[in-house]
Amino acid sequence: MKPLTEDDIRSSFVNATDEQLARLPIPGIHETLWDEREFLGWRDPQASRLGYIVHWMDGRPTGILVRAASGGLRPGIAAMCSFCHSSQPATQVRMFSAPRAGEAGRNGNTIGSYICDDLACSLLIRVTPPHVQSSERLAERGAALLTRVQNFTATVMKTA
Ligand SMILES: [Zn+2]
Repeated sequence: MKPLTEDDIRSSFVNATDEQLARLPIPGIHETLWDEREFLGWRDPQASRLGYIVHWMDGRPTGILVRAASGGLRPGIAAMCSFCHSSQPATQVRMFSAPRAGEAGRNGNTIGSYICDDLACSLLIRVTPPHVQSSERLAERGAALLTRVQNFTATVMKTA
């Protein structure tokens, strides 16, 4: 992905309150390998249920705030992340809800999805070693991942 600056990140959120933005934790963007990311996703070290996802959409940095559901999935079963489609132990996938943008969100209207608990889908799809996963296959998975994230954000932004 194209690199994001701290200003890009701060001004990107479509569904966060001023209060939430005022205490937004900025991740280590100087250590980020942007070429190996479809989106930037991170959890809040101070508010453990909050998470943040920022990506490019129509040439603009676009971010959403998500909240992890309390209580995870039942351990011992496999679960799939709706973004990267990786199948993993259920403890590593969690239900997150995103407040809808605007008034709907302020009225408590949310959209939920199962997502990797650490919001690090881009790392996960690169875990498969290159001799097992061709660079073409990885590029396809990355493109599909970004499309799914963008579709989720578009739904969050839909005000109707
Ligand atoms: Zn994932």
